[in-house]
Amino acid sequence: MSSKTPETLSVNAVRVALARPLRRLFDYSIPEGMNVTPGQRVRVPFGHHYLTGIVVSRCAEAPTEFKLKPIDEVLDEDALIPQDLLDLLSWAARYYQHPPGECLFAALPPQLRTARAAELPQPERWFANTAEAPDIPARAHRQRALLDWLGAQPQGADKTTIDAAGFNQTLLKALADRGLAFNRPVEPKTITTTGEPLVALNPGQQQVLEALPPPDDGFSTTLVYGVTGSGKTEVYLHYLNNWLDDTSQALVMVPEINLTPQTVNRFRRHFGERIIVWHSALNDTERTRAWLRVQRGEPLIVVGTRSAILLPFRKLKTLIVDEEHDSSYKQNEGFRYSGRDLAVYRGQVSSCPVILGTATPSLESLHNVRLGRYQMLKLEQRAASAKPPKIRILDIRSRPLDGGLSRPLIDEIGQRVEAGDQVLIFINRRGFAPVMMCFDCGHIMECPHCDSRLALHRQDQLLHCHHCDFRMRATPQCPKCKSGKLSPVGEGTERTEEVLQQHFPNTPVLRVDRDSTRRKGSMEQILENVHQGTPCILVGTQMLAKGHDFPNVTLVAVVNADGGLFSVDFRAPEQLLQTLTQVSGRAGRGKKEGHVLIQTCHGEHPLLQGLADNDYLGLARLLLDERTEAELPPASFMAIIRAEAVDMAQSVGLLDALSQHVLASGDDIQVLGPLPSVMARKAGRYRAQLIFQAATRKPLHTQLQNACLWLERQKLPRHLRWQVDVDPVETG
Ligand code: ADP
Ligand code: ZN
Ligand code: ZN
Repeated sequence: MSSKTPETLSVNAVRVALARPLRRLFDYSIPEGMNVTPGQRVRVPFGHHYLTGIVVSRCAEAPTEFKLKPIDEVLDEDALIPQDLLDLLSWAARYYQHPPGECLFAALPPQLRTARAAELPQPERWFANTAEAPDIPARAHRQRALLDWLGAQPQGADKTTIDAAGFNQTLLKALADRGLAFNRPVEPKTITTTGEPLVALNPGQQQVLEALPPPDDGFSTTLVYGVTGSGKTEVYLHYLNNWLDDTSQALVMVPEINLTPQTVNRFRRHFGERIIVWHSALNDTERTRAWLRVQRGEPLIVVGTRSAILLPFRKLKTLIVDEEHDSSYKQNEGFRYSGRDLAVYRGQVSSCPVILGTATPSLESLHNVRLGRYQMLKLEQRAASAKPPKIRILDIRSRPLDGGLSRPLIDEIGQRVEAGDQVLIFINRRGFAPVMMCFDCGHIMECPHCDSRLALHRQDQLLHCHHCDFRMRATPQCPKCKSGKLSPVGEGTERTEEVLQQHFPNTPVLRVDRDSTRRKGSMEQILENVHQGTPCILVGTQMLAKGHDFPNVTLVAVVNADGGLFSVDFRAPEQLLQTLTQVSGRAGRGKKEGHVLIQTCHGEHPLLQGLADNDYLGLARLLLDERTEAELPPASFMAIIRAEAVDMAQSVGLLDALSQHVLASGDDIQVLGPLPSVMARKAGRYRAQLIFQAATRKPLHTQLQNACLWLERQKLPRHLRWQVDVDPVETG
């Protein structure tokens, strides 16, 4: 794929991306009199039917062998996808070795992946027509109910609200057909930004603000290392406020919006309607609308998750990636891109500054600082006079535990609650217990489809596999020896919650994990309780570690830090260090000093010792040295090809044949494996992997391309599947 301008080329044919899992584009001729531009959607013949495609470029040379089929129809008046986004996606398709059509279509909202016109859906409101005497058959009581309900909405209601009230579009249409309901477009609002003034920055923040390169200087990447609570968000706000004129667009990427609605609100309070959000919970219409508003160049600031990097900005002036270390920036299925890494590339093609912010920089970013590719700015003090939290390591090797909690920890929780403060307990497992074991015969309940154990969720009375979602009823009867002694071993959030509630019957215990926040609005509800500031005990998983600002939390405890200390995954120590630092950072963000207690059986471990000294950068540099010495990323380049099938011989067999092929054709790279994955069987499928590693990017890329072409040529049985993962985050 090329991004040459059409003028330099004369052949009357274009290369079109189709949503097909093939690593190629498709050429079509342009009929006489038809105007076609890269970025437009077209309707093209494909096999026996027609498909919607996206024009990527003009053909540079006349295709020879056979006559091309002509484009049937051009679907957009102008390019729908701007040139710099086309460039980004074409580059990403090559870099991640993913079919270009799938990459391009991933960037379109679902409604525009078809031939549907790219018109901005005008929000409309529905009203009851009270002028007509309602003529509804007696048995149509749902229509009657909707009519009554609409009649009680003097401001009218949009479709989403109507659905949310328990009605549907069929009922609405029936009423409209009877002339009993009508709609009116909502007046488009002009964008206003006369919001709340920003807080004055402290001298440290001011220094960082002044050192950040302005958008007019073009592309650069800056890593803002700011300890937890140092006020990075305020710096972003000031930066945008200073440098964005009334016509420019900006993107602020965040890991997960629903976890921290607070952050969006802070942007909204100042920038008002200039802020729009982009995340997975939007419905299709909201998605199309947001996408087209960005595409039209409205002066928006998008606060969005990973896929916001694929939005069609036209006037992008700044890219901010908050919590750049967060693994949720990596897409783990299909088009496996890293939102953070694409942001840096996008900064280059769109010629704008990229700001990566975090209290726990990824080793990738620190490596880039070492190489001089990124500038690093530091905010080492907490904003608003808060002090860094005091971290203590508590060795629990010979201590009795209750729900995972040691006596000193329980005592300390009591003191905090007594003093009117809030407490946060971090435990990395949801459910009641991770294991169910028979106390007579030692049998352990395992998932019938995975190499994993079933966790007990006592509230639902279920045994649950967290890897494939298998569920079965929980009973005390052992399936092996028939005794009634099947019992929970170890602890998860539910058990710790229960134990805490027993110890502190008068204090609310709030559990935050995927189970307790599944219902829409439940996370907001919990956060609201916490922000009221009255004493409470929060018990939760990772979800609690991310970006929250709880000023009244003065004690944070980690139930068990040992999971990541001795893992086979080379990224485990980095991730553990980041999680522990982030969780600790929730303590003492307000006026009172914060304390952190970390329970462990390996108190002497250097990683935990360093953590107690609040020295993230020092530890991260040591880890980076270790990686460099071991020639692991980011000091080298890695990609994984995975295969899965209904038996292991097939998965390994395919990868084995592939590795012979690759080894035969190149020697600048190392090929490791094939090996069964750490969880060899998942959801009934047997998984194996082949790791590619190289000191430089180029040979790795060439060999991967080679490998994918070879794999695409194989006639594989239907259930044998493979995928490529470049710069993998999960390596097991
Ligand atoms: P970070 O994102 O670096 O963890 P935040 O931006 O959430 O930090 O800021 C932490 C707290 O400090 C917030 O409550 C914020 O309102 C407050 N804060 C930040 N900067 C200032 C400032 N200059 N003056 C007063 N309070 C500030
Ligand atoms: Zn048994
Ligand atoms: Zn399972």
